[in-house]
Amino acid sequence: MMKITFLGTGTSQGVPIIGCECEVCRSIDFRDKRLRSSIHIETNDQKSLIIDSGPDFRQQVLRERITKLDGLIFTHQHKDHTAGMDDIRGFYFLNDMKPINLYGTEGVFNQLKQEFSYMFVEDKYPGVPSVELHEVRKNETFTIGDTTLSPVEVWHRKLAVMGYRINNFAYITDANKIEEDQMQKLQNLDVLVLNALQHKPHQSHFTLAEALDVIKILKPKKAYLTHISHRLGLHSEVEKSLPENVSLAYDGLSITL
Ligand SMILES: [Zn+2]
Ligand SMILES: [Zn+2]
Ligand SMILES: [Zn+2]
Repeated sequence: MMKITFLGTGTSQGVPIIGCECEVCRSIDFRDKRLRSSIHIETNDQKSLIIDSGPDFRQQVLRERITKLDGLIFTHQHKDHTAGMDDIRGFYFLNDMKPINLYGTEGVFNQLKQEFSYMFVEDKYPGVPSVELHEVRKNETFTIGDTTLSPVEVWHRKLAVMGYRINNFAYITDANKIEEDQMQKLQNLDVLVLNALQHKPHQSHFTLAEALDVIKILKPKKAYLTHISHRLGLHSEVEKSLPENVSLAYDGLSITL
């Protein structure tokens, strides 16, 4: 059995947005409070994996009481998916100062080396975590413990982003286009997680209508939408408007498959 928990389901600024007075940002529904997008995966063989470490990483792992990290897997190098790297230190200590395994593309690693340069220098300050880099390449599956991950390359305007398929589950964020050969990898899913930002067209994210079109083509048994902006509307209202096999994800939602 695999357990997926949504650590965050918000777009880059999170919801609420600082200073915004809209009804979504003022909502008292806990499902309208969205930290930056990330998921936790507990695999069949009890490995603890996290996809993306945004600026809310520390708060998210404390909330879900995550006490080990066997792999931190990146979708792409944007800050709302990487900024939490400073806080992998806790897992490094819990892991007896063994390196933390990072999985990402060359582009992600180049960015991490710049932005977290203190982790990559020869003579590190005491307590700075060690990391081991595992490069992810399009169309090359890789394994963590007993789990096979299949990268699915999607487009985020002009940036290639990796989605991941594990068995009959797939997680795709920050996409506005998926090419046909990669769509093939997303057939016969039990659960698809897909990004849907807002209603208005956007240069690098699927709108709600575009996400629903992709879901219609792929026909997963169930789809959850994530990376949501305050502009999408109130969770309770949007949820009512969705097809039966589609739901908005929310922070803290867990699914087992
Ligand atoms: Zn993002
Ligand atoms: Zn707002
Ligand atoms: Zn992005």
